[in-house]
Order: sequence, then C-alpha cells, then structure tokens
Amino acid sequence: MAAADPYSACDLGPELDVAIARAAERIAGSGHVVAMTGAGLSVESGISPFRGKGGLWTRYGEPPMDGFQRFLADPRRAWQERLSPREPWLVGLVETLARARPNAGHRALAGLERAGHCACLITQNIDDLHRQAGQRALLEIHGNHRLLRCIECVARFEPEELPVDPDDLPPRCPRCGGVVKGDTVNFGEPIPPDVLRRCYEQVEAADCMIVAGTSASVYPAAEFPYHVLQAGGAVIEVNPEPTDLTEVATLALAGPGGAVLERLLGRVVALSPGRAAS
Ligand SMILES: [Zn+2]
Repeated sequence: MAAADPYSACDLGPELDVAIARAAERIAGSGHVVAMTGAGLSVESGISPFRGKGGLWTRYGEPPMDGFQRFLADPRRAWQERLSPREPWLVGLVETLARARPNAGHRALAGLERAGHCACLITQNIDDLHRQAGQRALLEIHGNHRLLRCIECVARFEPEELPVDPDDLPPRCPRCGGVVKGDTVNFGEPIPPDVLRRCYEQVEAADCMIVAGTSASVYPAAEFPYHVLQAGGAVIEVNPEPTDLTEVATLALAGPGGAVLERLLGRVVALSPGRAAS
C-alpha cells in the first residue's frame, strides 16, 4: 500500500494540486525567490479590500487624495487627527487593523523564508501582518501603519522608540531633526526611495517570483513580475480569480491564498527539507 500523501487532506481539487506541485518544484529549484503580496492576502485576516462591495472605503468613505500635501501643509493638525481620529475612513481603518491577525498565507510565506526558499517579500500592505507572522526580509512599499518615519532622512522608528507628546507636535527625528510622520505612504506621497531601490535590487536578483493576493496592476508593483519574466525567471501567481497577470504567469494557482500557500510550503519543504535559511 502506498504511503498516505500528507497534502491530500485539504480539498483544493486535483488540477490545482498538480499546479502546486509544479510550482513547488520551480521554487525548490530556484536560487533567489522573491514573494510579492497585496490586499487579497489579508482578506482572510478580516481586512476587506479598500474599494468595491464591502470595501473599507466603500463603507467608511475615501481618504483625501492629497493626504501627503495636507500633511506637509500642516503636520501638527495631521498628527492631531492621527492621535484622535475622527474621520470615518480613518476610524474604520484603525479598528480593522487593530483586530487583524496573520492568516495561513502569511504564516506559509514566513515558513518559506525560514526554510531558505524566500529571499525577500515585497508587500503593498500596511497591515503589519507579515511581520507578526515572523517574516524578516520584508519591503513594505506603502509603509507600515505601526511605524513612524522621518520625511527627511527616512529613518523608521517603532512607536516605543519615539514617544509622541501631544503638546509638542509634530514629533521630530532624533537623528536629523526632520518632521516625523506615520510610515504609511499617503495618497500623493512618493514611495520612500530606500524601499523602492531595494525592491528593484531584489527583483533584478530574482529567478522566481511568487505573486499572491494582488493583481499587481499599480505601479511600481505592476512592473516587478514582468522584469522577472523578461530576465528568464518564473512568475507563480496565487489569486482566487484571474487577473491581468494570469495569462503571462508561468504558473497560476487559482485558489484561496491561505490554503494554497500552506500546501505549497509543504510541497517545497518535502522536496528540499535541508536547505537552511541564511
Ligand atoms: Zn531624520
């Protein structure tokens, strides 16, 4: 009698299972795997996408499209709003983020890193869930809602590192004296150049990219999978619905992020159990 397949318990369907097995071979055989994630990965953590039916901004209203310009014009007022949020979209976002916990997809990607099969993870999410799941090499294109960032020297601070005095706003950078804002990239704000540069370094080094929970339709994330493909690398897409990427992806795994990534991790580790994380 053949040994039981430990990965057959979860019902993802035979076609998807074959595609996951192929993706696992590709990942295990790659030298530099980079993962990229977006809002779809956090839906299973209770964070709705921003737009569309049931979306955060559909329910609570949209944030101002010139948020960064407003911050620059009056950082003190922007900080007062951050400390005592009144705008419905901000109250809704703060409450949602406070409740959210990492899901199986976040944990599987962190597991892939620990197993030595994910050199870096690029995320468009600000929700901190990859950090909470234990991901270490992480590039947060749109910042992290928990952290603070100096708008001059781009130093990041944990909230405990830089206590904020409500009577002395905005807080100032202890390194350069610059104005400090939340690390989340506002509308109208450029992506911090240090993160963008490191993203391109990772993308150029990648011979395999896992794209999960994002249609990767917004710059700069939209470019990354195409860079990898043009350089001869593989793109593995994990999204429940087809996207613009599906047609060009080397392999498209159409299923729920948590279950698919969990199974993918299991298959990769089964193929290459001894590869130590550096
Ligand atoms: Zn600074």
